[in-house]
Amino acid sequence: MSDFIAIDGPAGSGKSSVSKAIARQRGYGLLDTGAAYRALAWHVLERGDDTDDVEAVLAAASDFDLRLGLEVDDRTVAVGGTDITAAIREPRVSAAVSGVARVPAIREQVNIFFRSLVAAAPYPAVVVEGRDITTVVAPDAPVRILLTAAPDVRAARRAGELAGENAAAVAEALHKRDASDSAVVDFLNAAEGVEVVDSSDLDFPQTIEAVLTVIDRKQGAGNGR
Ligand code: C5P
Repeated sequence: MSDFIAIDGPAGSGKSSVSKAIARQRGYGLLDTGAAYRALAWHVLERGDDTDDVEAVLAAASDFDLRLGLEVDDRTVAVGGTDITAAIREPRVSAAVSGVARVPAIREQVNIFFRSLVAAAPYPAVVVEGRDITTVVAPDAPVRILLTAAPDVRAARRAGELAGENAAAVAEALHKRDASDSAVVDFLNAAEGVEVVDSSDLDFPQTIEAVLTVIDRKQGAGNGR
C-alpha cells in the first residue's frame, strides 16, 4: 500500500510537470487523475455523444475499459486498447471534459478506481495530482498540497505549451474550464491542513524545490522527527 502525496491545483499551475519531476526524482509512482476524466470525455465523444448529456456519459462509463498506469516514464492512456495519450490533450477534449467531471456518480466511480490503483501500487508513495485529491480522494493523506498560480500566469503557461494556438483563445478556454470545474470542486482555496505553494513568481526548478520542501517536512513529521 503506497502513501498518497496529494497535489491539487488548476490548469497551468505547473501541477503536472512538477508532479512528474518529483515522482521521478524520488522513485514514486505518478497518477494523473485528470487523464481519467479526459479519457472518459474522449470515449463519450468517440461514441458520437455529447458530454452535457448525463445519460450518455453514464452509458459510456458503464462500458469504459481504461488503462492508466502509475509509471513516471510510461504515461500511456488507453481505452479499449486504443492509445489515446495524445488525443486526450486535444482542445476538443479539454472543452468537453468538465461535462463528465460534474456528474457525481462518475466522480465516485473514478475515485474508487484511483484508490484501488494506489492501494495496489508497488511504490513507497504515489504522487496523485488532480482537483479534489486533498479533499475527497485522500483527505487523510500524509502530504496534501495545493499548487496555485495567478490566472494570467496560468494562461500564459498554457498558451506556451500549446504551440500554434492563439494565446487569447487559450486563456479564454482555460478560464471557462476553471469556472465550470470550480462549481464542482473548490481547487482555488486550500482546505484545512492543506499547504499552499503559489508558483506565480517561481520558475520550474524553484517550484519543484518549494513542493519538495513541504513533502520532506510532512513526511518528517509523520515519522515523528
Ligand atoms: O488536470 P487536467 O486539466 O488534465 O484535468 C482535466 C479535467 O478533469 C479538469 O478540467 C476537471 O474537469 C477534471 N478533473 C476533476 N477532478 C480531478 C482531476 C481532473 O474534476 N481530480
